[in-house]
Amino acid sequence: MDQVEWDELCNDINEIYNLVKCNKNGNTASYIPQLAKVNPDQFAVSIYSLDNKYYGIGNTEEEFCIQSCSKTLTYAVALRDNGRKEVDKHIGREPSGARFNAFVFDDENKPFNPLINSGAIMSASMVKPECNDDKRFEYMIDTWKSIVGKDNVGFNNAVYLSEKNTANRNRALAYLMMENNIYPENTNINKTLEFYFQLCSITMNCKSMAKYAAMLANGGTTIDTNIELFNPSIIRDLLCIMYSAGMYDYSGRWSFDIGLPAKSGVSGVIFAVVPHIGGISVYSPRLDKLGNSVRGVEFFKMLTDRYKLHIFDTLIKCVDNKKSILKVNKSKL
Ligand code: GLU
Repeated sequence: MDQVEWDELCNDINEIYNLVKCNKNGNTASYIPQLAKVNPDQFAVSIYSLDNKYYGIGNTEEEFCIQSCSKTLTYAVALRDNGRKEVDKHIGREPSGARFNAFVFDDENKPFNPLINSGAIMSASMVKPECNDDKRFEYMIDTWKSIVGKDNVGFNNAVYLSEKNTANRNRALAYLMMENNIYPENTNINKTLEFYFQLCSITMNCKSMAKYAAMLANGGTTIDTNIELFNPSIIRDLLCIMYSAGMYDYSGRWSFDIGLPAKSGVSGVIFAVVPHIGGISVYSPRLDKLGNSVRGVEFFKMLTDRYKLHIFDTLIKCVDNKKSILKVNKSKL
């Protein structure tokens, strides 16, 4: 992206940030007590381009638990380590049409997809099951570090304990899947659940989340160190699911209106992937009734009203008043 376009985009982001900041609707997540305690006024927006340009505004350095955003990387790692065929035996690829923690399964008794709780617990069961818990956790946290930098990933033990102590629903889901006989052989359910809670309690900031999104927009290669962590076909599979099921029960409307693969977490983060362009992350803890950050959704609506970022906007040839940043990256398409 050339400097003039980049500067204009940053100005627009700045302007939209200040408009959205006035919105104080929504509430922090209350079902995990530690999440209810965070300062609800925090608000940050970060963007990384594929050529490693960065712009951020607001509380971009504030750490938060990545919660459901962890599900995306866990699935990518499960695919990389086990292969698509094996993973498909245990996790579906359909939107569930139900709440992220609902007791629903597909017609083969599998979780509908890896971005709802049952599916993420299943992905966790497929990451290094042969190793002890410490090695499994280290493996995943090291993967996060290899994407966003070793000093930019932490762990919130209080949230982990809070989640673990109030996890009756997730335990019930995990045991129902045992009853469905759908785990890989020799899965230890309790260790898998612990692992899942730990992954949700990993901490990052808005800046790092945008960098992760940019790695996905780059097809699995880190934008600063240029290391191919994932084959692009794995990222394509992940982005398809994020596009159809990344935003809780708002996913259909999000894809229709915003048109970007994204994932939301109950801590108030939303990251979106703009293939071939970069990654954008918004953090603001007040959630709407579906579990998405109120300001996050509003920010992306305003941004995509100004810019042709919807993945199908390229089909629209007629002149409209939306700005385009896609044209500068034609060589990558
Ligand atoms: N740790 C949360 C849970 O299991 C994740 C929810 C989310 O962010 O969607 O309920």
